[in-house]
Amino acid sequence: MSGLGKGVTTSSIAKLLQLADQKVSCIKIDPYLNYDAGTMNPIAHGEVFVTEDGGECDMDIGNYERFLNQNIPKSHNITTAQVYSTVIEAERRGEYLGACVQIIPHITDEIKNRIRKIAEEENLDFLIVECGGTVGDIESLPFLEALRQIRVEEGPHNVIFVHVTLAPSLDVVGEQKTKPTQHSAQELRRIGIQPDFLAVRCSTPLEEKTKKKIALFTNVTANDVLSCHDVKSIFQVPQILYDQGIMDSLFTKFGKVGMVNASANW
Ligand code: ADP
Repeated sequence: MSGLGKGVTTSSIAKLLQLADQKVSCIKIDPYLNYDAGTMNPIAHGEVFVTEDGGECDMDIGNYERFLNQNIPKSHNITTAQVYSTVIEAERRGEYLGACVQIIPHITDEIKNRIRKIAEEENLDFLIVECGGTVGDIESLPFLEALRQIRVEEGPHNVIFVHVTLAPSLDVVGEQKTKPTQHSAQELRRIGIQPDFLAVRCSTPLEEKTKKKIALFTNVTANDVLSCHDVKSIFQVPQILYDQGIMDSLFTKFGKVGMVNASANW
């Protein structure tokens, strides 16, 4: 759900990769029909972040810039409206040569093109793509489908999934509840995506027994169930993730075992 901490998780992982001497950048996908954040009420949706190249973007782009201390161009904020506009304009020019234009493959191909173009043009080692919204929303389905396809096309050593979920604590029971995480991961699997990591937002550090329970129900090993508990400053989140061994596991999943030591610089 919105306000969960997807932007902070994305920025933190990007920061850790940057500290391991990797060339890294981030993309924010906003599955809404506004072309950009410029026409959205800031009281309801938060600040509009204006990029160096004049883009009016989601505030997560501001998080990426502040964490990475580097400019993020407006092309890194992809919305449903931008993707559909490109496809519809191409259809009007007759570029699909009489084909029936559909969400799969035309919209999903356009999403993949935009992501790949950024990774290639900026010659990145890692590109972190944050998909906004909630798993199960109609709006985000084409984006999640495109991301699923990218993993199939690029292979599991080149694409991994981090799912940000919630583990609420009920005051009366005094226990960290795992059901929202279980159901969210289940919904993600239903559309063909098995998360490699879970970043679990919770008010206090996730207990070991809670991690094990989540692991059992989600097919994610307990080591890769990461506690993203509330901290005083969001700039502490990279440290929390690092202390739980995210970098070793991340590089191992990418088949870059030799790079594990480089992360020790952090
Ligand atoms: P999303 O991208 O899921 O909408 P954000 O990453 O923008 O969420 O975070 C929403 C709010 O929660 C922000 O104000 C952010 O500072 C705060 N936040 C995120 N993670 C943490 C954390 N671990 N501890 C404290 N505050 C956090």
